[in-house]
Amino acid sequence: MRVLKFGGSSLQDADKIRTVVTIIQKRLSTEKLCIVLSAMRGVTDGLIRAARDAEQGDTRYRQFVESLEQRKLQAVNELFPPEQREQTWVPLKTLCKELMDILHGVELVRECSKRSLDLIMSFGERLNCILVSSYMRSLGIPAEYVDARSCIFTDNRHGNAVVDFKLTFQTIKKEIGRKKGIPIVTGFIASTPEGVTTTLGRNGSDYTASLLAAGLGAEAIEIWKDVDGVLSADPDKVKDAFVIDELSYEEAMEMSYFGAEVIHPYTMIPAIEKNIPIWIKNTWNPSVRGTLIARNIKRHGHAISGIASIENVALINVEGGGMLGVPGIASRVFSALAEAGINIIMISQASSEHSICMVVRKEQSAEAVQKLKDELKSEIEAKQIEDITAMENLEIVAVIGENMRGTPGISGKLFSALGTQGINILAIAQGSSERNISFVIESKDASRALNTIHRAFFGENPARNSKEVS
Ligand code: ASP
Ligand code: MG
Repeated sequence: MRVLKFGGSSLQDADKIRTVVTIIQKRLSTEKLCIVLSAMRGVTDGLIRAARDAEQGDTRYRQFVESLEQRKLQAVNELFPPEQREQTWVPLKTLCKELMDILHGVELVRECSKRSLDLIMSFGERLNCILVSSYMRSLGIPAEYVDARSCIFTDNRHGNAVVDFKLTFQTIKKEIGRKKGIPIVTGFIASTPEGVTTTLGRNGSDYTASLLAAGLGAEAIEIWKDVDGVLSADPDKVKDAFVIDELSYEEAMEMSYFGAEVIHPYTMIPAIEKNIPIWIKNTWNPSVRGTLIARNIKRHGHAISGIASIENVALINVEGGGMLGVPGIASRVFSALAEAGINIIMISQASSEHSICMVVRKEQSAEAVQKLKDELKSEIEAKQIEDITAMENLEIVAVIGENMRGTPGISGKLFSALGTQGINILAIAQGSSERNISFVIESKDASRALNTIHRAFFGENPARNSKEVS
């Protein structure tokens, strides 16, 4: 059994759905498959906007639902022969009507809780999986629609719910394992044990696929996207970027945390636990091998495996003589930010203890500064801590790779390459896993920095070199 997941960009319209179904169909004669699908491209964003509009009393949400309905109707007309269209359309139309009613409810009460938003978002995956499974049946494939709310259970942290692995794996085995047809499962959505709809976080369908794989004891997970695999760097920024053949789970996790948009980082958790390999494949180029993410991978000859970066971040520095040797400042700083729901992307503290700096998303930087000023008010008044400010227009760059562990000279090579280009580094962090060195630079230097590092570690024309095995 293999679990295949297709994302929104692979399912944008009737044509793309046909391509996906062809890929699935070709394999059914020899393999047992379980399929996970996301919503059509842009639908989840649209649903969130509709919910926000309805909450403001802005009736544009109605046009959104109507256009979503149109998009589905068009797909039905293109995919099904005339005599099958009506029966296919009925359940989709019913769902669209229900969505409209819920949004109308939001408009009336002028309030959309996270719980309601989860319910609203769930329509994207549900509509799509109903559509695709009916289409497959119309071709004679025994596809069976599965609403993941019947088998993936979470707590009630809406928007980013935490999975109950034990209950989930048990139920998956029982509910999906015994299905005779090919399960077409909604990605992203889940439920509390009481039956309240939850979601696994944006782009969570990858995670759904790996939960199913773990529950079913599958031999592999395949994440089908619109790129040939995981790339060594963002190809929009680095012209030499190439497809990485193999990555360890930990490397893939680091890459995805650092904005490489490869795969949802949680996906690796069930896969690691059950030692299930993950393949990243291209829907539009299915014969290409793709990237393998697994435990025992063949090592390549480069010092690093890839480069990732996060744009639009701000650096906040808490600095002052009064921090020296005083325990508890770091804890107060981090607690204040955590209470405000501000995520810290990177932290660095010099051993002089004179300053702690942390990187947050630019949108959250003003709020972060205010929270820290409130928290450290008395220290600032007593001049033990200097005034707190944020620097913006920055980017984090992370070089990632298992080979860095225990290999001296990598940061030397990295920073001297940047030095020769005159690129100034504002902060540096390396975790003791030694799998990742991250640093902060000004956005204006980012493209030059990425290309310089790529050249320093992978050489010119690296697509050829990447096949070398040390
Ligand atoms: N449709 C959801 C989202 O856009 C889940 C996914 O695409 O994986 O976040
Ligand atoms: Mg998506």
